[in-house]
Order: sequence, then structure tokens, then C-alpha cells
Amino acid sequence: MSTRRVIASFARAGRFIGRGLRGWSRCLLGALDARPDLISVAGVLCAIVVLASTTAWLTADRAGRIERAQERAQSVASLVAGGLSANMTIYDALLADMASPARDSSAPMTENVRERIRFSQAISHEFLDDAFIVGADGMLEAPPDNPGAARIDLHDRDYFQALSHGTAHGTAPELYVSEPLASRIRDGRRSVALARTIETPGHGFGGVAVLVVRLDNLQRFISRFESRDVDAVRVVREDGVVLANAVHPDEAASLVVPQTSAGAIERIDMARVKGCVARVNSAPLAVVVTPSTEMTLRIWQRQALWQGALALAFALTLAVGSMALESALRSRYKALEKLRKISLTDALTGLSNRRALDNRLDEEWRRASRKNRQLSILFIDIDRFKLFNDEYGHAVGDEVLRSVAQAIGSQARRAQDMAARYGGEEFAVVLPDTDAQEAAQIAERVRQAVQGLRIAHAKSDTGAVTVSVGCATIKATPGVEDGAEKLLESADAQLLIAKSSGRNRVCASVLDAFDSAQTLAAHV
Ligand code: GH3
Ligand code: MG
Ligand code: MG
Repeated sequence: MSTRRVIASFARAGRFIGRGLRGWSRCLLGALDARPDLISVAGVLCAIVVLASTTAWLTADRAGRIERAQERAQSVASLVAGGLSANMTIYDALLADMASPARDSSAPMTENVRERIRFSQAISHEFLDDAFIVGADGMLEAPPDNPGAARIDLHDRDYFQALSHGTAHGTAPELYVSEPLASRIRDGRRSVALARTIETPGHGFGGVAVLVVRLDNLQRFISRFESRDVDAVRVVREDGVVLANAVHPDEAASLVVPQTSAGAIERIDMARVKGCVARVNSAPLAVVVTPSTEMTLRIWQRQALWQGALALAFALTLAVGSMALESALRSRYKALEKLRKISLTDALTGLSNRRALDNRLDEEWRRASRKNRQLSILFIDIDRFKLFNDEYGHAVGDEVLRSVAQAIGSQARRAQDMAARYGGEEFAVVLPDTDAQEAAQIAERVRQAVQGLRIAHAKSDTGAVTVSVGCATIKATPGVEDGAEKLLESADAQLLIAKSSGRNRVCASVLDAFDSAQTLAAHV
């Protein structure tokens, strides 16, 4: 397809869409003309939609933020657990070595392990502080570099108690993690012991191999994972005893179990921990991370406040704007209606004017032809009115015009009847659905009503103001365009007959839409 054709198709499509839009906007304006209250309704509906969608969006956003905070907390937990797990695997292997029944004596083995600890501390952030063997009697075995050192009693330590009893009952855990303790070897340094049972060749309890983890180092390690996303990172034993924690000062310690004893051991309720827990493989430990829901919600609240305020302002502007628009449209319609009425009303008599008469006659003709109904019209002229003006003056003439108009209007009683000032001292009455007989009767009533006003007219044959009435009736037929004019001409012709027959009378005719008028009667 050539470029020119493409452009031509686009232009055609554009014209088509333009016509559609214009038609649509005309329809819309038409509907609003008829029902301006629709503007307010639409405006308020739009405002409600704006508010509802903003609320829905903010609610979904809040839920999404909380979910993302949970996810981030979970990934922090997994990350910390992964790091610890790698270390614990090594420590467990060291302990297994230390507790191996194949060792011939503790001295060279312990020295070996200490070497390895020193090496690994040099290359990474390690938590290990020391390694030693506790004999089956609960006494610390003297290190080989200081065989004369005083022996320290460790039989009351929880790891020794658990492992010595566990062995006795055959339920010794593979790797035991102690509660936080103050080191008796390293000046009370806060530590945790990782312990394994040493079995005698006869599968009896031969003591405990111990690796000591420095809690300050562990604390430093998890502190690196503190961020705005998390309120707390805790390394806990599986029973909830906290070994290390990095807690945001604002964090509500909701998980912490109050301690009954004076001991400094913190314990959390593992049953209440939801979601952000990662188990440490190769050790009975877990990492519990509390997502910073409060911080997340605070950030959300700040944003929600702005967006909510904006949406509210927008919705209010929409609602108030649409109401103002409706009120402006209503006043405009009122003003237009007033103007329209003025443009269709005769200022002197208050009756409809010539323009209104033409419109109405046309309208009634079309309606009558659609329904095959009869339509009548009266043409009324004040007799000898020039002479009246000459005798009494124009101002009095105007008064008479008003009175006569009122008398004529009072005879056009039905809602569909219309009395109008045709011009000068001439009037017309449109009578829809009225046959010739009824029309003649109304015409006669008009004549009598004017005569009944008893307005003196010295220059008239009757001595009073009177009118002559030409009356015409047509049986409307579809397909005839100029029926209204024919009817008017016929009524005018009947008026002339009435005038020439002596005035103060009614002359009527019945008109076939296709034939000429037929005079019916003349009433004095
Ligand atoms: P005819 O019986 O044949 O109708 O005689 P006529 O004098 O009524 O008729 P003509 O057409 O000769 O005169 C109409 C008069 O109506 C002329 C004019 O002075 C008077 N007229 C027309 N409009 C007004 C008006 O608004 N106010 C007043 N006061 N007189 C008007
Ligand atoms: Mg006249
Ligand atoms: Mg006249």
C-alpha cells in the first residue's frame, strides 16, 4: 500500500471518529440539557470512584509492604542462618575430632584444635574463643602448655549436666549448645559452649569436648544484618534461649518471655514466632528475625496521608465542581427560558406573539396530519379600531388591546389552545382537535366576550368595541406541506367576508387539505 493511501485511510478514519465523537457529545449535551442534575450525579459518582479506588490501592499497598518486609526479614534470617551453619559444620567437625575415641591423649589433640582456631580466626570472623576437654569428673583438663595449672570445676555447667546425664540415659544429643555463660577460664567473658560427649572405649561417659564461642563476636556478626527492614535479629537455641540479639531500640519485645529468675538469660516464645525463622543446619540453633512492620507502616502512613489528601481534594473538587456546574447550567437555562418566553410573548398584551403562533401552528399541523385530526383557527380583528384611536387616543387604544386580548385568552380554555396577537389589532386562536362546529362556537363566544366588555366606541355602528372573527377548520391529511398556511389564508378570507358583511360577526369555513375553502355560515 502506498504512503498516500495509508494517509488517506488514516484521514478517513479520523473523520469517522470525529463524526462519532461530535454525535456523541451532541447526545450528551442534549441529555444534560434535559437533566442537568445528571452532572452532579456523575460528579459525585466519579468522586466516590476516585476515593474507593484510592482506598483499595492504599490497602493493597499496605498489605504488599508488610509482605515485602516479611520477605526481606525471611531472607535476612536465611542469610544469617546460612553463615552460622557454615561455621557450625566446621565446629561440629572439630568437636567430633576432639571427642573421637581414636585419640590417644587429649593434649596433642587440644593443641591441634587450638592451632586450627587461631588459623581460622586469622582468615575470617570467627566466633571461637577456646577449646578444652572436661573430664568425666567435671574438672577441666589442664592444657598441655601448662600442665601444672589449677584445675577448674565445671561439673555444674548445663552442658556437662546434660551430656553426662544424657549419656547415662542413652539420649545424648550429637551437638549440645549451652546457655549463655560467664567464662571461668576467660575472666567471666560472655560465651556459649558447644559440647560433645567423649565416649570411653567401653561406650561409657569419658568427659566432654568443648568449643567456646564468644558471644560478643556472634553479636557483632548479626549486627551487620541490622537494617531499616528489620527490627530484631536473634540467634536462639531451639528452646527459645537467646544467645545473641541485635534489636532495634523501638522494637516491642513482644516475643520475649519475662524472666522469673534474676538471671540475664533472655528467652523467646518460639510458638509465637511466625514466618521469619531460619533453622541453622548442623546445630540446634535458629535465627529469628522480626520485620520492621512499624517502620514500614510509618512510611506507608506518610505516603497514604499525602495520597489520601490528594484523592480527597480531587474528589471534593469533582463533586463540588459538578454541583457548581449544574447550578450554573440551571441558571443559564433559566435565563435562556426567560429570554425564550420573552421572544415568544407579546409585550403589550401578554399573549403569545406572531413567532410563537407560527411555530405552534406548524407544530399542530404536523401533529394533526400524523393523526388525521381536525385543526381549527380563529382570526380576530377589532372593528374600526383606527377610528377608536383617533377618537380616544393611542394610550386608551392600548388599554383596549389589553382588555380584548384578555377576553380572547379567556375563551381559549383548553391546555392545547393558544391565543396570540397576530399584529396590530389582529389576534389568532389555534384550536387543535377542534371541528368546524366547535370552532364556530368558540369564535362566537370570543365575539360575545369582547362585546360584553362594553367598551364605548362612538365611531362604531354598535357604539361599542367589537370584533369580527374569521374561522377555518381543516381535516389534516398526511403529506400536505402547506396546510397551515392554507388554513390561515382561509381564516383571513373568512375574516374579510365577516368585515364586508357588516363586522361584529363570525364567518367560518371547512377546508379540505386538497380543495379550496367552503364557507359554512356567518353569524351576526
Ligand atoms: P376594520 O374594522 O376594517 O378593521 O377597521 P380598522 O380601523 O380596525 O382597520 P385598520 O387596518 O384601518 O386600522 C387598524 C388600526 O389599528 C390602525 C392603528 O392605529 C391601530 N393599531 C395597530 N396597532 C396598534 C397598537 O399597538 N396600539 C394602538 N393603540 N393602536 C394600534
Ligand atoms: Mg386589521
Ligand atoms: Mg380592524
